[in-house]
Amino acid sequence: MDYIDPHIHMISRTTDDYHRMARCGCVAISEPAFWAGFDRGSADGFRDYFRHLVEVEPRRAAQFGIQHYSWLCINAKEAENVSLSRDVIAMIPEFLQKPGVLGIGEIGLNKNTRNEAIVFQEHVDLAMRTNELILIHTPHLEDKLKGTRMILDMLKSDRRVNPARVCVDHVEEHTVAAALDGGFWCGMTLYPTTKCTPQRAVDIIERHGTERIMVNSAGDWGKSDPLAVPEFILEMRRRGHPETVIRKIVLDNPLAFFRQSARWREPALRVEAPRGA
Ligand SMILES: [Zn+2]
Repeated sequence: MDYIDPHIHMISRTTDDYHRMARCGCVAISEPAFWAGFDRGSADGFRDYFRHLVEVEPRRAAQFGIQHYSWLCINAKEAENVSLSRDVIAMIPEFLQKPGVLGIGEIGLNKNTRNEAIVFQEHVDLAMRTNELILIHTPHLEDKLKGTRMILDMLKSDRRVNPARVCVDHVEEHTVAAALDGGFWCGMTLYPTTKCTPQRAVDIIERHGTERIMVNSAGDWGKSDPLAVPEFILEMRRRGHPETVIRKIVLDNPLAFFRQSARWREPALRVEAPRGA
């Protein structure tokens, strides 16, 4: 089945991963800017990283017929350094008109600190001034519920923000309803153990439906699976969900969200006969 992985950090993955994803039906991915595993020392370090995202990864992906898109920001883990963050935010507009850039992300909170909130709001302000989509990272484990509430409150208090142009990622059982009820898009991250396993993600779909929700691998340099979306497809089939429902979550929904960006280009899709035909 054709699918899109809307959140994966291919800079950390091998070319073999691109190959395996293509064989499983991946037609497009989007790669948010994130933490390198260490704090970068300067805005120039981010400039080189952004060049990698908008120039190098699209070429690697294209070798396997996969379209590559990206999101730009300084992530919440580095946001404690407010002056560096401001230098990076000031530099982002240099890249916003590059092909394949979908917007600002993944911005959010990590430890829910005051500085993280300041940098988050300045990113949102940039997105509003430049009319860009937003991709949100919500915090991990014990910080998730409080951090998600803080993020949603900050977004709702900025009257320029249209929730239909924002995706709140890494939602889990206890945060999905708040994001959906606010009119936002949601992403569920399929990790082998933490965040959502494919089984938990299917449980959430069965409870909350298929509107404005998608799934991603968030594959990166940590324990993660670049084929997590195909695992989700298998779990949906195992439980007897129709192909049209599965396709909505792994393809139609990300397409609907991404089409709001002027720089989105339609991927070439295979036309598949209905199963059993
Ligand atoms: Zn990520």
